[in-house]
Amino acid sequence: MDIKDGFIATVGNTPLIRLNSFSEETGCEILGKAEFLNPGGSVKDRAALYIIQDAEEKGLLKPGGTVVEGTAGNTGIGLAHICNAKGYKCLIFIPDTQSQEKIDTLRTLGAEVRTVPAVPYKDPNNYVKLSGRVAAEMENAIWANQFDNLANRQSHYETTGPEIWQQTDGKVDAWVAATGTGGTYAGVAMFLKEKNPNIKCVVADPMGSGLYSYVKTGEITTQGNSVTEGIGNSRVTANLEGVPTDDAIQVDDPEALRVIYQLLRKDGLFMGGSVGINVGAAVALAKQMGPGHTIVTVLCDGGSRYQSRLYNREWLASKGLSID
Ligand code: PMP
Repeated sequence: MDIKDGFIATVGNTPLIRLNSFSEETGCEILGKAEFLNPGGSVKDRAALYIIQDAEEKGLLKPGGTVVEGTAGNTGIGLAHICNAKGYKCLIFIPDTQSQEKIDTLRTLGAEVRTVPAVPYKDPNNYVKLSGRVAAEMENAIWANQFDNLANRQSHYETTGPEIWQQTDGKVDAWVAATGTGGTYAGVAMFLKEKNPNIKCVVADPMGSGLYSYVKTGEITTQGNSVTEGIGNSRVTANLEGVPTDDAIQVDDPEALRVIYQLLRKDGLFMGGSVGINVGAAVALAKQMGPGHTIVTVLCDGGSRYQSRLYNREWLASKGLSID
């Protein structure tokens, strides 16, 4: 018998998928870690689980307690699933710019959801800062603090990285991923570099994020904006600090859209927007490196979370975007 013991035991061990159309176009093996197949539907299930287990082990989270977090949605969804499975309550602060699908999912899962205006990190009313303040004022509550809680990148260092290494028999030439908290990129980069320092680790960045300029020049500057959700940052989080990085690639929204529609139409993969940035960067990297290389990236979540946006022509037109 092969039976998983509930939601928690089902997190991780996702397949590594060859992205056929882009592999054929570039002559490289472009591989996507299928994180949309996690039981909560995204890469953030891994971090959510490690953050909760770490708080339990440290005695910070006790039975009946509440997990509080500021999130673009996916971490909140992962936390809400795990809270239900473990008997905790969940309180989520989410910027009102995020998709209705993610907000609805959080409410369906029973999380208390507070949508708040999207203001920069330096503003005290930023969703991350608000969640931290509210958690500190509550009894028997923890702040998940995914951006600066190192249990986040540890989940990828201990699970995602080793899985990629095993699934490729160590034959990886490059790892490329966009960062929200940086947990996924960092944990995998740290693990792969330990195994083989020649593996090229590259940050993918949407427009409007400061990490591309940070990697290129050491300074954070931003230009433009992006309709992708859950990625990009204007600061170096604790999860990203000290992480080996060889380069950065910026991908704009028209390219990210072209990529997710090609994945949909030619590969049968229905993906979220950050996948467009990740695979777009992998394709750009393949062109830089030349044929014959194996490049691994992440398929962070599925497209149904963005049906009303990235897969809706009217919404795209309202953002000045279109698809063929
Ligand atoms: N893609 C999506 C859709 C996400 O929600 C997130 C997390 N916010 C990421 C990518 C980035 O993951 P990480 O926080 O590990 O950098």
